Amino acid sequence: MIDLDATKDRTDAVVDDHAELLLDASHRIHARPELGFAEHHAHDVLTGVLTDAGLDVTTGAYGLDTAFEARAGNGGPTIAVLCEYDALPVIGHACGHNIIATAGAGAAIAAAAVAEELGGTVVALGTPAEEGGGGKILMAAEGAFEGVDAALMVHPAGLDLARIGALAIQQVEVTYHGKAAHAAAAPQAGRNALDAAVLGYLNVATLRQHIRPDERLHGIFTRAGDAANVVPDRTEATWYVRSPTVRGLTKLKDRVLACLEAGAAAAGCTMDHVWIEPAFADMVDNDPMIERYRANLARTGRTLVDPDSMAGIVGSTDMGNVSHIVAAIHPMIAVSPPNVAIHTKDFVRYAGGREGDQAVIDGAKAMAATVVDLWAEPGALEEVQAAFDGARAEGRATGSATI
Ligand SMILES: [Zn+2]
Ligand SMILES: [Zn+2]
Repeated sequence: MIDLDATKDRTDAVVDDHAELLLDASHRIHARPELGFAEHHAHDVLTGVLTDAGLDVTTGAYGLDTAFEARAGNGGPTIAVLCEYDALPVIGHACGHNIIATAGAGAAIAAAAVAEELGGTVVALGTPAEEGGGGKILMAAEGAFEGVDAALMVHPAGLDLARIGALAIQQVEVTYHGKAAHAAAAPQAGRNALDAAVLGYLNVATLRQHIRPDERLHGIFTRAGDAANVVPDRTEATWYVRSPTVRGLTKLKDRVLACLEAGAAAAGCTMDHVWIEPAFADMVDNDPMIERYRANLARTGRTLVDPDSMAGIVGSTDMGNVSHIVAAIHPMIAVSPPNVAIHTKDFVRYAGGREGDQAVIDGAKAMAATVVDLWAEPGALEEVQAAFDGARAEGRATGSATI
């Protein structure tokens, strides 16, 4: 019988031994923000740390230059720890992905230290372009999650939350086509593509009253005409459609499209649209895994809280797509006061500061301990898999990383 507590004390000690390296990596990534698919510096920093720690590292994994895989262990249950490291345009690491990356690397290094004796395999997956681009979805298509039994990561936030409450999302690009005319001399000869876009916008605004309270619709005009004295013959808009489930998203997309097309019809214009791939799925949280993580996070002195349904909506993530093909969790770890939102300048400071550093260490320890549970606690992985199978049977998890 394996002494789980003693094993977790050892994985904690491995994290502590690597703390300086992990925090240095976190600070270096934070100081040099890179956009999705261009995270070459972060990729090199992380693969360097993982290689030095003795993991078997593949750089540029699964067809993406800035993705990586780092493995340890020989067979047995395979648990993936996911690392994100892309930043946002202009404001940099306002989502704190430097913390996700280095907590994930720390967890993988600590789990690797006990992988062989516990008979498990740990895989750190470096997943580019979470903030749009969907690196995890592209990696899934290349087989990154084949043979993976469960996947986990932590994301910084203003609270220690059990789940992210991520919505399924798809973006649509809409173009309206009208007929140009002199706006004063011959308006009767024109068909106004801006009217079409505005009417489409108002239709969606009206639709908002009759959708679920946890669904979200938001759009902007990206092209609205060139001169006020010319009837615009071409306008463009970008819309985001979000729903708590993939099934709900499919239905809502049809209703939004009908609104936008009705705007074109009313203005005597035509409309074409392109749904942007990949769409992000909702997050299907694995409750038995959350409970293990909750107990393990408590070992660091933190208390994981369950968000009430509305307050828990943070946005969308490509980890959602992963959760449709494998048992997964996406807890949030506190690095800032609750009133400081991610994607703000204030959050950048916390992500690179003392609070961010503590989240790297505590997140790494709690995740490594959760991997230990999945490998060595009798029945734990079976319970996790049964919950995932149940989500599949109910259709909450689709079994596909693409929508
Ligand atoms: Zn973000
Ligand atoms: Zn993020």
